[in-house]
Amino acid sequence: MRNEGVGSWPYRRFRRDPERTALTFRAQSWSYGALDERVTRLAHALRGLGVGRGDRVALVSPNHPAYLEALFACGLLGAVFVPLNARSAAPEIAFALRDSGAAVLVHSAAVAATAVEAAESAGTPRRIVVDGPPDAAALDYEALIEGAATDRLDEPVGHDDPCVIMYTSGTTGRPKGVVLTHGGVTFAVLNPVLDLDLATDEVALVCAPLFHTAALDFVALPVLLKGGTVHVEERFDPGRVLALVERRRVTYTFGVPTMCDALSAHPDWPGTDLSSLRRVVVAAAPVPPRTLRAFADRGIRMCQGYGLTETGPGALILTPDAVERKLGTAGVPHFFTDVRVVDQRGEPVPPGERGEIQISGPNVMREYWNRPEATREAFADGWFRSGDIGVSDADGYVSVVDRLKDMFISGGENVYPAEVEAALLDLPGIEECAVFGVPDPRWGEVGRAAVTVADGVRIDQRQIVAFLERRLARYKIPKSFVVLPEIPRTASGKVRKGELRERYAG
Ligand code: ATP
Repeated sequence: MRNEGVGSWPYRRFRRDPERTALTFRAQSWSYGALDERVTRLAHALRGLGVGRGDRVALVSPNHPAYLEALFACGLLGAVFVPLNARSAAPEIAFALRDSGAAVLVHSAAVAATAVEAAESAGTPRRIVVDGPPDAAALDYEALIEGAATDRLDEPVGHDDPCVIMYTSGTTGRPKGVVLTHGGVTFAVLNPVLDLDLATDEVALVCAPLFHTAALDFVALPVLLKGGTVHVEERFDPGRVLALVERRRVTYTFGVPTMCDALSAHPDWPGTDLSSLRRVVVAAAPVPPRTLRAFADRGIRMCQGYGLTETGPGALILTPDAVERKLGTAGVPHFFTDVRVVDQRGEPVPPGERGEIQISGPNVMREYWNRPEATREAFADGWFRSGDIGVSDADGYVSVVDRLKDMFISGGENVYPAEVEAALLDLPGIEECAVFGVPDPRWGEVGRAAVTVADGVRIDQRQIVAFLERRLARYKIPKSFVVLPEIPRTASGKVRKGELRERYAG
């Protein structure tokens, strides 16, 4: 086999464990043997459509095993897989299709209207429909697989060849395509395998979106590499997730903080048997202490992680053995990754001082697709600049403080909204919140908080301020509050702060 890339993994697993269950989805299940065969057939089918080395194949769908099959099939051909956000509007998908120059768009029947509009607008030559009947202009995913050959492909693919392009959500501007090579993905996937002690008998539950790097590169691929079983859930439903954990004896899952909160707030939480869960990883946004407490109270090791699409994603991880000692921190650098906290001149700051988190290692992206300028700006002396603020303790455990761009300065003092949000969330009745800076003639900027309040609860501003005064310095306390029915978030659980600032700054 001349394929050293990710596409060869199903075959390599099939060689050892053909009968083991690789994937489950709804009531279906596929062994490693079946996965290997389907991936090989899909690769032949794509090649039949003219897809070859370096060509891009995009996919947009709610979670479905096709994400993994298409990624592997592209890997067998040396083609590049481009997973897209299923919640995007047609113009956003069209942007990514055009930007990546995708030759094929695979999409589920569920998002057909958006996908058709996007593909037409971007001039994407081919569409393949998964999980439902295709329209007249599209091909059927299952029929393509069934009709394709099964002989092994032997395209040489190396670690330097591009494997995926993942689009950042664009909370910091126009989305950029993050290019990860096969070597990059391999190391990104080895990091959690090593640092979370993933085992061959792992049963992983993927309920976060597979178009994000965390679910794909941190949960699904590491468990498949180890020969475990991955259950793919179409979408996140807290009651179903709890039932699945109990029924399938799930050992490993990942959620963003809001997902973890929804699980612990669900009426079934106390009565569900969660004893199979060896670890839960939480990342992608600041993790409120109450989230960590809820899981710790059930004896579940909640390993906070930190990373970005650009770092594949893992940069920092709180390993299971350190959870009790270092709860609240995002842990230490992953095995193959280095992390430093630096000041504005790029000099490392001592423990206890805040600085920018920078990351280097083989898991870090090669470049932004077709954006040499943005790529140059993203690195300093070979270190990827995260744009996040962190602080490390004397043992090298790093806490993520906030995003540089969310920090604001009030009367000359730096305010980190994540700290204020964590304090606010400890007030019973406050369900969600987001703090941001707004212009103020006296202080330069002051905080404003958007909050959502639990049903039937009445909280007034004075109460909130009185509560915060016991926990925070005065300059950190928001000067005004807006009550919203919900806090706008991206699919990866991040608050859309830009949108809040725009709407509620005045
Ligand atoms: P864009 O780059 O366009 O803004 P994005 O914000 O969705 O898109 P991602 O790569 O999905 O980009 O998210 C990375 C960001 O998530 C980090 O820069 C950081 O701000 C945040 N993040 C990840 N893990 C944590 C964590 N444990 N605590 C706090 N923030 C985190």
